[in-house]
Amino acid sequence: MSELTKLTVIEASDLLRRGEISSLDLTTEYIEKIKISDSELGAYITVTDELAVEHAKKADLKLSLGDAFPLTGIPMQLKDNLSTKDVRTTCASKVLENFIPVYNASVVEKLYDNGAVLLGKGNLDEFAMGSSNENSAFFPVKNPWDVERVPGGSSGGPAVSVASGEAAYSLGSDTGGSIRQPASFCGIVGLKPTYGLVSRFGLVAFASSLDQVGPLTINVSDCAEVLNVIAGYDPLDSTSISNSLPDYKMSLRSDLSGLKIGVPIEYFPPEMNAEVSTIVKNAIKTLESLGADVEEISLPSTPNALAVYYLIAPSEASANLARYDGVKYGFSNQDDLGFWESLERTRDESFGSEVKRRIMLGTYALSSGYYDAYYLKAQKVRTLIIQEFKTAFERYDAIVSPTTPTTAFKFGEKIDDPLKMYLNDIFTMPANIAGIPAISIPCGLSDGLPVGLQIMGDAMMEEKILQIAFAYEQANEWSNFLPRMT
Ligand code: GLN
Repeated sequence: MSELTKLTVIEASDLLRRGEISSLDLTTEYIEKIKISDSELGAYITVTDELAVEHAKKADLKLSLGDAFPLTGIPMQLKDNLSTKDVRTTCASKVLENFIPVYNASVVEKLYDNGAVLLGKGNLDEFAMGSSNENSAFFPVKNPWDVERVPGGSSGGPAVSVASGEAAYSLGSDTGGSIRQPASFCGIVGLKPTYGLVSRFGLVAFASSLDQVGPLTINVSDCAEVLNVIAGYDPLDSTSISNSLPDYKMSLRSDLSGLKIGVPIEYFPPEMNAEVSTIVKNAIKTLESLGADVEEISLPSTPNALAVYYLIAPSEASANLARYDGVKYGFSNQDDLGFWESLERTRDESFGSEVKRRIMLGTYALSSGYYDAYYLKAQKVRTLIIQEFKTAFERYDAIVSPTTPTTAFKFGEKIDDPLKMYLNDIFTMPANIAGIPAISIPCGLSDGLPVGLQIMGDAMMEEKILQIAFAYEQANEWSNFLPRMT
C-alpha cells in the first residue's frame, strides 16, 4: 500500500497544490485501503466510491486552474448522522436503514464548497447513543490498535477511519463525549467546538441543547484547518453564533508562556486507572515546561454532571425521536394495522434497546408529576455547572484533564451494565453541559493503548485550546504513533 493514505490533511494539500499528486490518485488509494481493511474494522456504513471519484475529478480541475482551498481534493468521511443529499443516511438505525435525504447538512455544503471528496458515511452507535459502537444496528467498529477492543463511541467509525488511514479526516458529533472519547481510544485528535460555533442544521438531532459537530484528525494543525471551514454563522440553525472568527490555523503557536492552566482535582478520582492518571499528569508537567502556569483547582459540581446529562439528554432525545412514527419517513410496519398499533410496532421493531431505554428515561423525566423533580432540577444543576466553569475561566485560560478514566475496553465488557458504560464519559460530559469547547489529543500509551489529554476552554476560545494542544503536540511524538495498517 502506498504512503499516500498516511499523509496528514496539510501534507496532502501541499502535494496537491504543487501538482505532485492528483486528487484522483489520492482518492483511489483511499478507496483501495477501505476495500482492504474495512471488512475487518467496520468504520464505514456506506462507501461512496463513485461519488468520491466524481468529487476528485472536479477537485483536480479546480487545482489545475489554481482555484483551490486547503481542503480541495482531500478525501474525507462523515458520521452517518449528518444529512447527505442522495446518499443514504442511517444513523446506524434500522428505522433509517433506507433513508435517502433530499438535502445536505450545512457543514456538508461547506465542505463541498471547499472542494472536499466524500469517501462515505461513518459507523456510529445508533442515533449517537453509546460509548463503544456496540449499539450500531448493523455491525460494530473495531479498534485498530487491538481489534478485540472497542473504538469508543459514538463516533467510532470517524475515529477508526482516521486512525487506520481509511480517511484523511472525518466529521463526528459530540453530545456527551462522542468525538473526544473515541479520539482518545484511537490515538487521534478530536474537537468538540463551542455550542453554536458549528451549524447543527442537517445533523440528525439527539439532544439539541448539547449536540455539536466537530473534526476528528491526525493532528492539531489538521483539526484547525477543518475547523476553519466548518465554523461560522448559519441562518438555518437558530442557535448559531454570528461572531467574527479567527483563522484557527494561523494562530497556532508552540509557546505557552503567560497562559494559566487549571487542573481540577475532581477529574482524578481515586478509582480511575492509575496508569492513565500518571500519563496525563506527566503531560501536564510538559505543559508547565512549555511555559504554562499550572495550578490545581476544584470544580465541586463535577460529580453531578453524569446525573444531569442522563436526565437532559434522554429528555431531549425522547422529544426528538418522536418523529420516527413510520408515517413521514423511514421504516414502517403497516401490516393492515390501525394507526396506534402500527406506530407501536414500527418503533418497537426499528429501535435498538439503548435507544428505547433513553426514550423511556426521557419520557419519564418529562412526565407530569416528575418534571420538577427530575428535568427542572437537572436544569438548575446545569446552571451551577455553567457558573462554576465561568468562574474558573475568569482566572484560567484552560482546564486540563484526562479525556476518559480508562483506555479502550474489550467488546462485551460494559454493554450489559449501562451505568458502567455511562461512567466512561464522566470527564467529557461537563463541556457539553456548559457549552464550552474541548479537545482530546493523544498523550501516551498504556499497555500499548492510547491515552487522551482533554483541554477545555471558555466559550469561543477554540484558539486557546488549539494553541495548547499544538504546543503539546510539537513537544511530543504521539501524533506519529498510529496503528495505521499498511
Ligand atoms: N456516550 C454518551 C451517550 O451515550 C455520549 C454520546 C454522544 O456524545 N453522542 O449519550
